[in-house]
Amino acid sequence: MEKDVIVIGGGQSALACAYYLRRAQLDFLIVDKQDEPGGAWLDGWDSLTLFSPAEHSSLPGWMMPKSVNNFPTRKEVVSYLENYEKRYEFPVQRGVTVTQVNQTPKGFKIDSTHGVYMAKTVISATGTLGKPFVPTYPGLEQFNGIQLHSAAYRKPDIFHGQRVLVVGEGNSGAQLLAELSLVATCYWSTRNHPEFLPDDVDGRVLFDRASAIYYAKKQGKELDLNTLHLGNIVMTPPVKAARERGVLVSSGRLESFNQDGVFWDSGDFTPIDIVIWCTGFGYATDHLANIVTRDERGKCPTNGTASTEAKGLFLVGYGGWTGFASATLIGVGRSAKSTVDAIKELITSPNRS
Ligand code: FAD
Repeated sequence: MEKDVIVIGGGQSALACAYYLRRAQLDFLIVDKQDEPGGAWLDGWDSLTLFSPAEHSSLPGWMMPKSVNNFPTRKEVVSYLENYEKRYEFPVQRGVTVTQVNQTPKGFKIDSTHGVYMAKTVISATGTLGKPFVPTYPGLEQFNGIQLHSAAYRKPDIFHGQRVLVVGEGNSGAQLLAELSLVATCYWSTRNHPEFLPDDVDGRVLFDRASAIYYAKKQGKELDLNTLHLGNIVMTPPVKAARERGVLVSSGRLESFNQDGVFWDSGDFTPIDIVIWCTGFGYATDHLANIVTRDERGKCPTNGTASTEAKGLFLVGYGGWTGFASATLIGVGRSAKSTVDAIKELITSPNRS
C-alpha cells in the first residue's frame, strides 16, 4: 500500500520528522536497518557522553530527562530515543535495509531487504555512521599494524601497552586520546593546532556560535568570525584530566607510513602498533544512487532539505548542507518541521510546480 511518506533510517532525525508527520496527520512508516532504537548512539564508544546537558539536547515535544551527571551518557541518549519512539507510538519496521530508491510517475519505489515499499514522498535520514572517512597517505597500504576508525572503537581494554597513533583534531580525537593515554603510549596527529574551548563552557557554545552565524547570514549581516571562534574541543572531565597529565599535545601532521610506523612532516619516525582514525564521516546515501548525483562523500544537491534532482525526496540530519545544526538533537527539529511543511504542501497540491 502506498504511504504518504517513507522515512528511511530510525535515528534521532527520523524521530524528529515523525513527530511533525504525526502532527500533520500524514500516513508514514519508518524503516530502519538496526534491530533496536537509538540510531548511531547504539554504536558509540562506552564512555561517550553528550557535549551539552539534557535540557539542551532534546527532540521536539518531549525533553530529555535530566542525566545523573551533567552530560548525558550514550546509554541515556539511547534510552531517551527509545522512550520517545514509544511515547508517540511511531510506526517503525526494524531490521530493514533500504537497498535502492527509484522514482515512478506517482512517487517512489523503495526496494529493501524486506520487500518493496511505495510512497508519494521519501525522507532519507540515514546519517553518517555507515560512511567512516579515512584519509590516504603514502605507504599506508604497507603498514602492518592495526587500523580502526573511531566508529568501530568501543573501550580501551585491548590497547594496553600498545603504541597508539590517534589521528584527528576534533572531539573524537581528543576524547579517545584522553581515554587511551591511561593504558597505552599515545601519539596525536592533527593537521592544525588543536583548539580547546574554555573550561567553563560546553557544547552549547558551539550551538550558539552556529546560531549566530546562521541568523547573521539570513539577515545578510557581516560577522567577525574571529570574535565568535572560541575553539572546537569541549573540555569534558576526562579531556581536562588528560590535559593535566600533559598528554593533549599534538605531534603535528603526518607525512607517510611504512610497515612499522609513521613519518611526521618534521621528518621524524615513530614506530606504531595501532592507528585510530578520528577523521570524520561521509554520508550514508548509497541507496539514493539511482535518483541523485552524489560526490565522493555521498553529498547530493539540495535546497534546504529538498533534493533539487528528485522532487519529493528530502534529506534530513546530515549536517549543515541539509539544514542548520541538523546533525544535533537540538538542531534537527527545525529541519524536520520545514521538511514536513514542504511535504504537506506537495501532497495536498500535487500539481504545484
Ligand atoms: P543516525 O543516528 O546515524 O541514524 C540513522 C539510522 O539509519 C541508523 O539506525 C542506520 O542504521 C539507519 N540506516 C542507514 N542506512 C540505512 C538504509 N540503507 N536502510 C535503512 N536504514 C538505514 N549530537 C548531539 O546532538 N550532541 C552531542 O553531544 C553529540 N556528540 C557527538 C559525539 C560524537 C563523537 C559523534 C560521532 C557524534 C555526536 N553527535 C552529537 C552527533 C550525533 O550522534 C549524530 O549526528 C546523530 O546520531 C545523527 O542522527 P541521524 O538520525 O541523522 O543518524
